[in-house]
Amino acid sequence: PFRQRLLVVANRLPVSAVRRGEDSWSLEISAGGLVTALLEEPNPYSDDFFKGVKEFEARWIGWAGVNVPDEVGQKALTRALAEKLLNSANDVYRVLQKCIPVFLDEEIVHQYYNGYCNNILWPLFHYLGLPQEDRLATTRSFQSQFAAYKKANQMFADVVNKHYEEGDVVWCHDYHLMFLPKCLKEYNSEMKVGWFLHTPFPSSEIHRTLPSRSELLRSVLAADLVGFHTYDYARHFVSACTRILGLEGTREGVEDQGRLTRVAAFPIGIDSHRFISALEALPVQDHIRELAERFKGRKVMLGVDRLDMIKGIPQKILAFEKFLEENPNWRDKVVLLQIAVPTRTDVPEYQKLTSQVHEIVGRINGRFGTLSAVPIHHLDRSLDFHALCALYAITDVALVTSLRDGMNLVSYEFVACQDAKKGVLILSEFAGAAQSLGAGAILVNPWNITEVAASIAQALNMPADEREKRHKHNFKHVISHTAQEWAETFVSELNDTVVEAQLRT
Ligand code: UDP
Repeated sequence: PFRQRLLVVANRLPVSAVRRGEDSWSLEISAGGLVTALLEEPNPYSDDFFKGVKEFEARWIGWAGVNVPDEVGQKALTRALAEKLLNSANDVYRVLQKCIPVFLDEEIVHQYYNGYCNNILWPLFHYLGLPQEDRLATTRSFQSQFAAYKKANQMFADVVNKHYEEGDVVWCHDYHLMFLPKCLKEYNSEMKVGWFLHTPFPSSEIHRTLPSRSELLRSVLAADLVGFHTYDYARHFVSACTRILGLEGTREGVEDQGRLTRVAAFPIGIDSHRFISALEALPVQDHIRELAERFKGRKVMLGVDRLDMIKGIPQKILAFEKFLEENPNWRDKVVLLQIAVPTRTDVPEYQKLTSQVHEIVGRINGRFGTLSAVPIHHLDRSLDFHALCALYAITDVALVTSLRDGMNLVSYEFVACQDAKKGVLILSEFAGAAQSLGAGAILVNPWNITEVAASIAQALNMPADEREKRHKHNFKHVISHTAQEWAETFVSELNDTVVEAQLRT
């Protein structure tokens, strides 16, 4: 059967590459939401073992995350990435289609990625204020970082253009590549181009403060289809275009002199089957038994977050402290496990956050701990997939307190692993997931520590029938809105949008 070619362009390729010698590389797939959506199951019944069940033949284009200054290394890496990669993670192995690298030198990475993407766009899109000093420094380096951003986006466009074949769909991802749609359309106005943002898009009043506000909006608008996780983010984007650019917002999207850019919400999901079936795996069962034994007689609360400002980890822990303060009878009957995955560890602000969290955890454990037990187990590292599934499965109450979060997949993964236990999800109203799991979760404002503490009490005391009702609601959503469907819906909408535009002219 005919399978449409899909060029997926993202800042990072979903592989980590380690150089083993002058011309040899070892590669490993790192699975995120987008990757699992497009990974292929090997089909043992097909002539070609690797011909998956997916509708698209995907190619990935992106930066491999390493600096490769020499031509020998670049050629070798390009060759290694061009082969189909097997997912060597410890779940059912699957196949990642071919990857095509974009090579960025250190200076560009510094200015474009660390600078413009992570120091300017990321905080702005998550409504994080910078300290005054940093803000001034950022203001001064803004022009050169923006120039590097445009240059990097042009380099991505060059690679896409080189590999593009007529009829391909090009799907650009995230805030790193807001300039890409425009660059691509300048090469070829016939190219089908979609752009999807994985973070929130902020209120137009926030976007308005960005010196490059108009240029960024205009380049995104060059795409045929622009997608967001939630309806709110889409609306903010349309407002930014009407207020800042003076364009017309319609039900369909944004219109500029008769040309429509379609704007819509496409909430991402997870590969729920991967989690549900993992629970049957022996290593996961072993982990579950161990953990159940370890925390016998106590209710388990769980937080799983990258150690990022947006996740509201200090707020979460302070709320837990308040709960312990107000509920002395619970002190030896509950434990909070906080998995804090290190991220951007070279950045001072993140280092500050780490020590802040350690300090609060230490204080609370000192205050409420006994010789045999502490109320908070805080881990500064990531877990492997099986350990994570086991943790999700034995948890009584999951606590997601993001201050802002594009979607938050942890909340989905927790729900997927809870069909036996039917635990409670406490979820920040500032996570995109609140739009989809709001009816089953207890929604909270993470800044309101009194409210979160009360929700913890409510969750721990919730009767079984209410837990079941709430869980069923969320579980149904999580298994029926998967990452695979998300990707298929976006691409088919993009195809339709282009056909409709042709009919209109
Ligand atoms: N995760 C992981 N290892 C860990 C903890 C978490 O791979 O030790 C994964 C988790 O399964 C989830 C992702 O990290 O898929 C976090 O996604 P989310 O959307 O919640 O937040 P993000 O980190 O993208 O802001």
